[in-house]
Amino acid sequence: MSEWTETLRYFSWKIKSNTSDIAYNALRNELEKSGRKIESLKATRNYLEGLLSLHIQEYHRCVNNCLIFAGDDLLKRNCRFCEVSRFFEDDPAIADFDDSLSYSQLTPRAVYSYMPLIPRLKLLYANPEYAKKMRYPKTLRDTQWEDGIRDVWEGRAMKHWMNKGYFNDERAVALHFSTDGVQLFRNSTQEAWPFLVLNINLPPKERYHPCFHLLYLLDTTPKTSYLWGCVLDHRSPKI
Ligand SMILES: [Zn+2]
Repeated sequence: MSEWTETLRYFSWKIKSNTSDIAYNALRNELEKSGRKIESLKATRNYLEGLLSLHIQEYHRCVNNCLIFAGDDLLKRNCRFCEVSRFFEDDPAIADFDDSLSYSQLTPRAVYSYMPLIPRLKLLYANPEYAKKMRYPKTLRDTQWEDGIRDVWEGRAMKHWMNKGYFNDERAVALHFSTDGVQLFRNSTQEAWPFLVLNINLPPKERYHPCFHLLYLLDTTPKTSYLWGCVLDHRSPKI
């Protein structure tokens, strides 16, 4: 760890100050002239990925945004909606693939990247301060309040689910998912679809802060392919 201490200090400063990669690399060069070695951004990001188990996951998707090639579509050669081929150099007339190794050398026309939710939730529990904050719903239950509703946890919908046995374990995590189509221009058929996932175990003061948004996407087609981003976490056999 000690060999990384200084690099991580500078990397933390870069993130907090929103310094560009180009400016950070220029700073590294200047520091190197003064005899201080700071690891490259690529090496630092790789180190943190391994340390925190936070990896960007990539899935092949239809170039027209119809679907992601996962689940029942994992071995498909073409999109089952628009029939466009999944890979550049593939022959769409051939039957579906036998296994995922069969297409490892082919280049997908489009890829969907996202950061899975579960490792990010695990990191919150790895931090003692945030592990305590994630138990915010229990603190609400422990401090009775007769004067109205303090939070969504005391609303009718959440009480309904809690009476059915959900969310009664203080370690259970509730996520809030919002989406809606928004017409950007009058008389236009084009819509944008924002998708937002919030962690409502965190106290209201923090849950809306962008750094705790678990998913924030803007899709320009009214299709559901990107909803897979949420669903895939629960389909992964690694969990
Ligand atoms: Zn398609």
